Amino acid sequence: MTQQIVVRYGEISLKGKNRSEFERILVRNLRNALVGVDGARVHHHGGRMMVECDEADADEVVHRLQRVFGVVSLSPAKVSALSVDAMAQAAVAVYRDAQTGGAKTFKVEVRRANKRFPIPSPELASELGGRILKAGAGAVVDVHEPDVTVFVEVRDAEAIVYGAKIPAVGGMPAGSAGRVGLLLSGGIDSPVAGWLAMKRGAELEAIHFHSYPFTSERALQKVEDLAQILADWGGRVRMHIVHFTDVQTEIRKYCPEALGITIMRRMMLRIAEEICRRRKLLALVTGESLGQVASQTLESMQTINAVTRWPILRPLVAEDKVDIMRRAREIGTYETSILPYEDCCTIFVPKNPRTRPRIDEAEAAEQALDIPRLVEEALARTEMKTFTARRNG
Ligand code: ATP
Ligand code: MG
Repeated sequence: MTQQIVVRYGEISLKGKNRSEFERILVRNLRNALVGVDGARVHHHGGRMMVECDEADADEVVHRLQRVFGVVSLSPAKVSALSVDAMAQAAVAVYRDAQTGGAKTFKVEVRRANKRFPIPSPELASELGGRILKAGAGAVVDVHEPDVTVFVEVRDAEAIVYGAKIPAVGGMPAGSAGRVGLLLSGGIDSPVAGWLAMKRGAELEAIHFHSYPFTSERALQKVEDLAQILADWGGRVRMHIVHFTDVQTEIRKYCPEALGITIMRRMMLRIAEEICRRRKLLALVTGESLGQVASQTLESMQTINAVTRWPILRPLVAEDKVDIMRRAREIGTYETSILPYEDCCTIFVPKNPRTRPRIDEAEAAEQALDIPRLVEEALARTEMKTFTARRNG
C-alpha cells in the first residue's frame, strides 16, 4: 500500500516570484531528504505538495520531512475518489487510525475547494460523521474539543482525508536566501546561530580558526563534527579551516596582553571578510550574545566590528544562555559542544582582558602588525572541507 503525506509550507507573506522560487527549492530539498527511501516521490501541482511512499516507510519519511526547513506541518492522508462512499471509507479509516492511538471523540471538517462538487460542506460533514458513527464502535461526536478532527478536502480530481497535523521545523528552505559565512567555534552558541540562519534559508560556509598545536586535533574534530550535524539539517555545509597559530603568536609577541582578545577577533573578522569576498558569501553569522562574556559588551562588539563593513548577523544577540542551551539540545549539537577540548580562544586568554576596548586603542596596538601579510598568509594556509547530510535508511 502507498501512503500519501500532505506537506504544508508556510510564509503566508510569500508572493509572486519569491513563492515559486521557494517552492522549487523546497521540492528539491524534500527530494534530497528522501534519498535512500525507495519509491518515495514528491508531487507538487496546483499549490499542493504531497509525498507518496510505501506504507512501511511512512514513519521514517515523516521523521525526515519534519526536519526539512520550510515545512510547517505534515499529515499522513488518504486520497479518495470524489464520491461520498469513497470519502466515507477514507474518513472511517482515518478515524480508526486515530482510535488506535487512543482517540475517542471526533468531528469532521470539510473544505470544498471544488465548488462543482454538488454537496455543500456542512451537509457532507454531517453525512461523513454519520458514517463514522455507524462504522466505528464507540465513536462519539464532539464539535468543540474532539480528540481527532477528520479533515476532508474536496479537490478537483480527488478528495484528501486526514487526521493529525504533525508539526515540523518551519522556516525557509535551506539555500533560498543565499550563502553566508558562519564563524564556527567548538562552543555551544555558534552552531545554534548557524542553525538559525540556515532555518531562515541561508546556506552555510563555516569558517573555523584553529591553533594547532596549541589546540589538539580532537578540538578540530569536534568542530568538524558540529559542521556535520549542521549539514545533516541543511544538506551541505562547506567549512574553511584557517590555521591561525602564527597570527596569534604575533599578536602575543607584539601587542599589549589586555587587548589580545580584541585584536585576535579583529584579525578573525578581516580574514573572514576576505573569505566571504572570494567565496561570494553575503554576510557573516556569529554566536555572539550581548553581555555574555568580556568580548561581547557593546563597546567590544563595536571595536571588533569596526574592521569590516560586511554585514554581521547575530541571531542569538538577545537570547539567554539557558534558551541557547535548550535549542542546542533540540538540534543535536549540545553533546558535541560540551566536549572539553580547548578551542583557540581559551588558550590565549589574558589575565585582565579589557571589557571596553576602544577603537583607537586597538588601532594603535595593531601598528606593530603587518596586517595585510598576516591575512594573506592565513588565507594561504586555509583548507576547505565539504560535509553533506548523512541519511539513515
Ligand atoms: P561559542 O559558544 O559560539 O564559542 P562563546 O560564547 O564562546 O561562543 P566567544 O568565544 O566570545 O563566545 O566567541 C564569540 C563568537 O566568535 C562565537 O560565537 C563564534 O561565532 C566566533 N568564534 C569564536 N572562536 C572562534 C573560532 N575559533 N573560529 C571561528 N569562530 C570563532
Ligand atoms: Mg567560544
